[in-house]
Amino acid sequence: MPQSLAQLFALDGLIQDDEREIAKAVRHFVDERVRPHIAEWFDTGEVPARELTKELGELGVLGMHLDGYGCAGLSATTYGLACQELEAGDSGIRSLVSVQGSLAMYSIHAYGSEEQKQEWLPRMAAGDAIGCFGLTEPDFGSNPGGMRTRAKKDGDDWVLNGTKMWITNGTVADVAVVWAQTDEKVRGFVVPTDTPGFSAPEIKRKMSLRASVTAELVLEDVRLPASAVLPEVQGLRGPLGALSEARFGIIFGAMGAARDCLETAISYAQDRQVFDKSLASYQLTQAKLADMALELGKGQLLALHLGRLKDSGTITPEQVSVGKLNNTREAITIARQCRTILAANGITLEYPVIRHANNLESVLTYEGTSEVHQLVIGKALTGAEAFR
Ligand SMILES: Cc1cc2nc3c(=O)[nH]c(=O)nc-3n(C[C@H](O)[C@H](O)[C@H](O)COP(=O)(O)OP(=O)(O)OC[C@H]3O[C@@H](n4cnc5c(N)ncnc54)[C@H](O)[C@@H]3O)c2cc1C
Repeated sequence: MPQSLAQLFALDGLIQDDEREIAKAVRHFVDERVRPHIAEWFDTGEVPARELTKELGELGVLGMHLDGYGCAGLSATTYGLACQELEAGDSGIRSLVSVQGSLAMYSIHAYGSEEQKQEWLPRMAAGDAIGCFGLTEPDFGSNPGGMRTRAKKDGDDWVLNGTKMWITNGTVADVAVVWAQTDEKVRGFVVPTDTPGFSAPEIKRKMSLRASVTAELVLEDVRLPASAVLPEVQGLRGPLGALSEARFGIIFGAMGAARDCLETAISYAQDRQVFDKSLASYQLTQAKLADMALELGKGQLLALHLGRLKDSGTITPEQVSVGKLNNTREAITIARQCRTILAANGITLEYPVIRHANNLESVLTYEGTSEVHQLVIGKALTGAEAFR
């Protein structure tokens, strides 16, 4: 009797009963609500984001690791396991949840006023309001410190001008957390998307993360009251703190996409006959499967270890970089290798593999590219900063 991937690493023994139950519920949601439609959403580039957000709110995964304001207050590890299940469905669906919970809601939760928290968090947790997070600009991605979006004081008001790029959930968002340069430091602003001067044109013709909305944010004399600024943070520390939260979810999520690819490839290799024998019975195939299972298992163990560190309050940004770099890099390698096992069938949306592989191109890039995480780890190892 073949062993499952989970049995090989005995991962289940490292997960508590309540964590397992929640992961199971999310897996069930993905099986029922995502898998039957995802190929079509990816193919057409159209995803029912508002409907899905409401259902994800009912499932309880939006801001699930935050306390109070309608959020579930669950552990970081539980949140990670939920991300793993969501991304086994599709990286775009996990991105929706990450941006809502770890970027937009986290920023308001960690840096917002009581009034901002009361106004937005319960609705966002329930999936009644969608959030996005605007940091990247057309000319400043890896180096957000160069941002050109400006917020100027005008009496008590703030007036924002600038353009943000590649913003997940942008066209469907009710609220945007926008980071802008002021006369002093970078500040965060809570911008209702119906504010005059705000628009969010969709970015079309993507070949990756097609079941996810990506937009530009255009801010033309967007006038906001003094109460719109996030009062509790100044400088890049704000957005970088939120990014560290979202990166954490990706460490688990990427392994979900890789797991789905490997499960698909194993099952395909068992069924597919080549030269009169099952593809799974050839040594070359087994070498590929064994090597991929090792990287998947090691990545999952790393994710769990980092989850426990986060829950104990000791995780460092460098450790998050270790997880993000390793797990996204290994996930995309696994996806591409699985595609070779499925050969021609691997290039169609009949199987999830090419979709995951294409999605992982974005996952490798956003929330800090691999090169940026190499530089973070390099600095930690040597003490020498090599960003410039
Ligand atoms: C689908 C998708 C969704 C996204 N969602 C969001 C979102 O919701 N909100 C948001 O704010 N942003 C979002 N992003 C933007 C994402 O975070 C940026 O694309 C990312 O930070 C990289 O920036 P860039 O694309 O401008 O690349 P660049 O910064 O131009 O980098 C180009 C290349 O140079 C490398 N590089 C950069 N600096 C160095 C260096 N010092 N040394 C060596 N190499 C270097 C990079 O690693 C990369 O290979 C999203 C991106 C995508 C693709």
